[in-house]
Amino acid sequence: MDIDSLTKGIGLVSNTITTLKKLKELIPSGDKKQDIEQNLEEAEKNIKIAEAEIAKGFNFQLCYRHFPPGIMLEIAPFKSKCNTCGNVEDYDS
Ligand SMILES: [Zn+2]
Repeated sequence: MDIDSLTKGIGLVSNTITTLKKLKELIPSGDKKQDIEQNLEEAEKNIKIAEAEIAKGFNFQLCYRHFPPGIMLEIAPFKSKCNTCGNVEDYDS
């Protein structure tokens, strides 16, 4: 398994959440709609945490300036940038 297929898989799950969010708009306002909103937000957060955990498993640097942590991509030797907030950090290999 490589990081590309994992990232694609996570992307598909994220797209599903987006679709569900659109469907949610069709539901009349009320207690149940609020429940659904909460559950979707929870699911979205869990996907981001899963993404970070997987990245960690592949030895990617993680940015802990926010939660869930962002994935840091290498932009130069020993320099990586957070995919979420743009934070740039130097690191030793
Ligand atoms: Zn960040």
